[in-house]
Amino acid sequence: MNIPVKAQSHAYEVQIGSGNFTKAVQSFEGDIAKADQLIVFTDEHIWKIYEEKFTREFPYTFKVFVLPGGEACKTFENYFAAQTFLLEQKCTRKSFLFAFGGGAVGDLTGFVAATFMRGIPFIQLPTTILAHDSAVGGKTAINHPLGKNMIGAFYQPKGVIFDIDFLESLPKREIRSGMAEVIKHALISDEKWLQQLMETTSILSLSKDRLENNLEQGIRVKASIVEQDEEEHSVRKFLNFGHTYGHAIEAASGFGRVAHGEAVMIGMVYALLLSERYGEISRAFTIEFLQFALRNGYPFEAVANFTFDELLGYLMKDKKAEYGELQFVLLQKVGQPFVQKISQQECREIDHVLRGLLEEVAYD
Ligand code: NAD
Ligand code: ZN
Repeated sequence: MNIPVKAQSHAYEVQIGSGNFTKAVQSFEGDIAKADQLIVFTDEHIWKIYEEKFTREFPYTFKVFVLPGGEACKTFENYFAAQTFLLEQKCTRKSFLFAFGGGAVGDLTGFVAATFMRGIPFIQLPTTILAHDSAVGGKTAINHPLGKNMIGAFYQPKGVIFDIDFLESLPKREIRSGMAEVIKHALISDEKWLQQLMETTSILSLSKDRLENNLEQGIRVKASIVEQDEEEHSVRKFLNFGHTYGHAIEAASGFGRVAHGEAVMIGMVYALLLSERYGEISRAFTIEFLQFALRNGYPFEAVANFTFDELLGYLMKDKKAEYGELQFVLLQKVGQPFVQKISQQECREIDHVLRGLLEEVAYD
């Protein structure tokens, strides 16, 4: 299945399937023939599992640069080491990069591609569920000790090749994290789809077909938003649903301790509570959603590890915070997102409501 992404700066396709890897890479033969070198960036966890399969199935000669596993690869040091590697290998503007991994490898590789010799082409080869989100849309970034994703660029890939056979080795926690972004895509776009997910006994063990189907739907939502607003001046903000409070939990916990999507799930419940005030979301729905999240093992106990004042410092670092007010994405109804400014005082009140609700529903 090929899903078009018609971003203004560059149109490309997401090729999603099972066992489609070799063929999909070959579909770039024209571009690849022009390249002087093919360089694959990956991380140590992924390479340990897939070195053999990848080498067998990747149809061209390549060199590999292996980064530290996960979020740890998105540092200045690794960005510098990656550029050094490319220079040492005598890469030029005609060299071609591949990001084989999750969102972390994808973000780092994309930023290296955007800046090496002012920009060289790259292809995303995502290996996580979460990367159905991160590999599409052209946001690339590394972290700064003072904040996540603070240094980056908008830079679209030449293409995205998603072979879901690579997802088979994902640990439960990463499935959970990635599914949160699938649920986000459902919440901001389609009530029926969300209902189907919420009625599923465990979203951590979907059949392969169903998983592919859900990823495809998620990619379509993301692609359609990126087509309308590539650089986040308007509707692209909707993709931040759950991310404001979620990022604060993620940052306060120490990046990597609570997985990104796990934190976003907590942030989505927070955003639903706010949506009860500003939209038509009912408390009954929020509770039903929270119970669904708890059934699937999302770690809401993370909230109790911090006071609101501890979280507030992180909330105010949000890229969208202005003049002491925060911008939240809320829902009028499921499928109808909008952006709302919220005062610190109201953030505090809703934090209090969330803690009360967790006492009632989660911790007994
Ligand atoms: P990740 O890349 O850190 O991967 C999670 C963990 O799973 C890592 O330890 C990784 O080594 C391992 N892993 C990856 N694939 C595997 C596989 N197939 N089998 C076994 N283990 C595997 O995390 P992620 O959740 O994919 O992505 C999170 C990152 O994505 C964050 O840095 C976030 O900021 C970024 N992100 C970017 C965007 C964007 O638009 N650019 C959107 C959302 C998230
Ligand atoms: Zn996210």
